[in-house]
Amino acid sequence: MNKNIQQDKIRGSLVGGAVGDALGYPVEFIGSYMGIKQRYGEHGITRLDTTQWWLPDGGKSNKAWISDDTQMTLFTACGLLNAKEQGMAPKYAICYAYIEWYFTQIGWRSSRRRDCWIGDVPEINYRRAPGNTCMTALKDVLEGKETYNNSKGCGGLMRTAPVALYGAVWRDKPEGETPEGRISDIKDVDMIAADAAEITHQHPLGWLPSALEAHIIYRLVQNENPTVEDFLSYLSEGYDTLEVLYPKEFDSIKELRRLTEKALSLVDSPASDIGNIESIGEGWVGDEAFAMAIYCTVKYFNDFEKAMIASVNHQGDSDSTGAVTGNILGAVVGYEAIPQFFKEDLELHDVIRHVADDLWRGKTTRYV
Ligand SMILES: [Mg+2]
Repeated sequence: MNKNIQQDKIRGSLVGGAVGDALGYPVEFIGSYMGIKQRYGEHGITRLDTTQWWLPDGGKSNKAWISDDTQMTLFTACGLLNAKEQGMAPKYAICYAYIEWYFTQIGWRSSRRRDCWIGDVPEINYRRAPGNTCMTALKDVLEGKETYNNSKGCGGLMRTAPVALYGAVWRDKPEGETPEGRISDIKDVDMIAADAAEITHQHPLGWLPSALEAHIIYRLVQNENPTVEDFLSYLSEGYDTLEVLYPKEFDSIKELRRLTEKALSLVDSPASDIGNIESIGEGWVGDEAFAMAIYCTVKYFNDFEKAMIASVNHQGDSDSTGAVTGNILGAVVGYEAIPQFFKEDLELHDVIRHVADDLWRGKTTRYV
């Protein structure tokens, strides 16, 4: 496969997720589609909102903010790369990276160990409605306590796409050396994604969707031109793999499959997107956010803009359903197919693209 296409897909997934996050963030807590329409017009929010953002120093941002979803996603990427560079198990390196994100949220960063350069970026240190479950679980980890929260919130799912992007890519050694052509096994990728989510979300429906998303994105990154049929076969293969990897979680896997199949059955329904999406759920929990993203991805498989708009215009957790849809569909269409107006208005666009390229290269390079 053409290496440049693979790089484009990795950029597409990471930047695409951030676009969905930033599009959904201003409407996450509005609470109803009617309320979104009252603020943004008849078709809801359709462009990144760059009009209302004040910075802590009193200045005004002319970009649409990313939220905790993208912040944590970037730390997942840093953790994975640190795992390789420091010879640590990915789960632990990712957990350390999340602790560094936690420090950025409580203002402790300057006095602590730093392995993730991303934490030096000012925008990463702003609090953007961080999830309580993540904050509480990471505080427990930091204090050496056993965490058991039984949460199935979508906070594990919305941040773990980098596991697939990193694991799926054929990487070359630096220029002049023999191509390495290394690739991680897909089952390892699924399990690392599950482990990364489970750090903060311990109900099976808090981490199984993360493994399934990783499985799909891994396959998409390796297929130059995936069709909807390919996509559905990856989904089906993903469930089968989960059943092999996690036989004790059969009931939760069945529940996840049931909701996703409902979402797929609605793709051809004549009802409106808002009606269809709200009948799947609100997306605050992992299985609903995943199924809503699957609906938007399959319905608008070749139209990133329409998928983004559908994915955030509902009463529920818009930034996370937008982020997950963008992570998945971005790996289908690639970075070049994401409309320029989304890229131009996105906060930290260049930094996010830089991290995507680090995942592609398999090596951390600091963004200057
Ligand atoms: Mg958020």
